[in-house]
Formats: sequence, structure tokens, C-alpha cells
Amino acid sequence: MRDFSQDHRWLSINTATVRKQQGAEVPLARIIDQCAQRGIRAISPWRDQVATAGLDATARQLRAHGMALSGYCRGGFYPAADAAGLRAALDDNRRAIDEAKTLDAACLVLVVGALPGALDGTPHYTDLARARGEVFDGIAASLDYARQVGMPLAIEPLHPMQAADRACINTLEQALDICDVLDAQKTGALGVALDVYHVWWDPKLAQQIARAGRERLLAYHVCDWRLPTRDLLSDRGMMGDGVIELKKIRQWVEAAGFAGYAEVEIFSALDWWQRTGEETLDTCIARHRTVV
Ligand code: ZN
Repeated sequence: MRDFSQDHRWLSINTATVRKQQGAEVPLARIIDQCAQRGIRAISPWRDQVATAGLDATARQLRAHGMALSGYCRGGFYPAADAAGLRAALDDNRRAIDEAKTLDAACLVLVVGALPGALDGTPHYTDLARARGEVFDGIAASLDYARQVGMPLAIEPLHPMQAADRACINTLEQALDICDVLDAQKTGALGVALDVYHVWWDPKLAQQIARAGRERLLAYHVCDWRLPTRDLLSDRGMMGDGVIELKKIRQWVEAAGFAGYAEVEIFSALDWWQRTGEETLDTCIARHRTVV
């Protein structure tokens, strides 16, 4: 396993971690500068942040700092109430793939979606199997285009508590089953984004990480599971402040061949978003060296 204790060259920051500090939206350009000042070599930004900052301006700033993207957040949300909605989702994913390509991202992360409309409180239907079918078809269609332009797609399985509203792919096994059908040759075009917050509880985790192997492990997201977790979406813990055995999971991931960034992704309305971005980033660096 790689030694992270001496430096933080394999640390990446998902920009959601430091975008809402003390009640104010922090511009992406400032987050990039704050990361560059600390020798952080990679980030994973969100599409809305890039849209606000400007795609080309962001690409230029990243190049100027020599900064990489461990991933781009995010594509997906395929299920829809009708055919027009399904088409719109495919179009939107195509644009996301193009943006990821412009930013030279390692992969486009897919939060695949679930019951359409559920995020707003009113699902258009409640047939989860139908949603899973629409997700499968959507990924297949996006993959055709992603292969053409050379942008890997990373399916992120989400904890089953989010099966209704955000993602109906809920285990690593389920994600890998789709990968094996759509990319049987393991070309690297389709894989997974493994986020410890979503998968740490899975009794098949070690087995499925080994199954995934280097070709499928496209991104690795870290944070921690707080006790108690006060909000399912936005009360993630800083690494070391919860019960996830981070080093054990990284050992499995690296034994399977993963050699990329450990991307810190912490949605923390009650704690880290109450502090300054500087304090949060400095803590990420310290914890990356000691507990990741
Ligand atoms: Zn994640």
C-alpha cells in the first residue's frame, strides 16, 4: 500500500467539500487557488460550479496550476417520466461528457438517478425495476458517445438510503454487473467510482473490490461515517472522525490495482461548511497523511 504519511501527492479535493463555507458560496476559481497554494494536485468540481466560473476559464486555470481532475461531477439521472425526458437526460449527459473532456477529467462520475421526480418530493412512478432498466439503457447510450471521445464513465453506487431519489444502483456488485454486460472486454471505458460513505457497510465489499480490479476502479472517494449521522445527505464526517476503516478499504482497493487519487468528498452542513475553507483543507491534508 502506498505511504501517504510523508506528503499529499495523492490527495484530491471534491470541491463540494469547501464550496459553502460559513453560509457563502465560494467561487470555484478561489477553491482552485486555495488548493494550489497547498500543493494539492487534483480536484473534482461540480458542473454547476464550472458553468458559473466558465468552462474555458476553468480549463485555463487548471492548466496554469498543472492541476488534474480526479473526476467530474456529475452525469447520470437517467430515469424520466416520458420519452422526451429520457432523451433530455441523454443530451445532458452528452454535454457533461464534452465538459469532462475539455477539463481533461479522469472520468465522468455517474449518479445514475432513481424514481424520476422523487428528488422534488413527487415521483412520477414508483417502479424501481423500471428505473433500473432506464438507467441501464441510459448508461449504454452514453457509453457509445463516451467511447468515441475517450471519456471513461464511472458509475457511483449510492447507499440504499438514496435508492428512491438519487441512485437506484446501490451496491458495488450491482454496478459491476452492469459494467460486465456493457463493457465485457474491460476496456477502461466503463467502471466505478467507489465512495466509502456509500459502500463501507457492504458485506461483499472486499470481494467486489477484488472483482473490480484496476480496469474498473476509476475513482476513490473518502470521508467518514459519523455517529450519530444527523442528516443522511449532508452530515458526512472528516476522515478519522467516524467508524469507516479507511486504511483497510484502501488496502483492498490498491491490492486490486488502483493507484489514483484519494478524493475527499465531505458534505457537512452542520460542521465543516460552518468553518473556513482554509481550515477544512488543512484538516483534509493532515487526515490524508494520518488516517486515509
Ligand atoms: Zn462520491
